[in-house]
Amino acid sequence: MADLLLLDGIRKSFNVGARTETEVLHGIDLAVRRGEFSALMGPSGSGKSTLLNIIGLLDRPSSGGLFINGQSTAALSEQELTKLRGHAIGFVFQYHHLISAFTARENVMMPMLVDRGRPSFDMERRADELLEWVGLSRWQDSYVTNISGGQQQRVAIARALAMNPPLILADEPTGNLDTGTANDVFDLMQRFNRNHGTTFLIVTHNHDLASRCSRLIELVDGRVTRDEDRTAKNAPQ
Ligand code: ADP
Ligand code: MG
Repeated sequence: MADLLLLDGIRKSFNVGARTETEVLHGIDLAVRRGEFSALMGPSGSGKSTLLNIIGLLDRPSSGGLFINGQSTAALSEQELTKLRGHAIGFVFQYHHLISAFTARENVMMPMLVDRGRPSFDMERRADELLEWVGLSRWQDSYVTNISGGQQQRVAIARALAMNPPLILADEPTGNLDTGTANDVFDLMQRFNRNHGTTFLIVTHNHDLASRCSRLIELVDGRVTRDEDRTAKNAPQ
């Protein structure tokens, strides 16, 4: 079966000022199989978010190939990219990007509303199911401004899972949380990975959390400097 993700010599440059182009990703090759639970580490400014945005189809590479499920994304129109993003990829960010005027349930329903074609009772049922799964049934009707940071991040995870995407990209999802809460949020993602086989790629600075991942990828100055399979180390005892 094709890799879920294949990156072939991905480069990315940004225009800084009128003339200078700075390259921040210098040719990234990476293959990610279905079901992996990977940590992406590296110093600040090394290109982790840039890489995640490219994988998540929020930004295009300057050159190189990105294949999702064996399909090249190079020739896709903006419309096709948006459609693929909606079905294939869920995002969790450090600052959850929830809509504060919405309840927890409404936030989780957002990706389904964008997708349309689904009766509203069904969307509500799916949202409530996910909120129950992340332990937030009691807060389904609460506005997200009225719940804690850890709870907000759990709503963000439920929202990322709403369309049941094969891939979840998380950019420092626990960066804003205390250690205990960060552990809980991480547990949740790991449990979903184990139960549903959803692939996770998680940017984190936390070595304890990274050591629980099945793979550890390190990026320094726009290059992969380490790529370690940890499945043997993390096998259930
Ligand atoms: P990380 O997430 O690892 O901290 P980033 O991917 O955010 O790193 O940034 C990598 C480098 O690219 C940094 O030097 C940053 O300043 C630069 N960069 C990121 N986005 C842009 C942009 N939109 N325009 C110009 N430079 C950018
Ligand atoms: Mg970043």
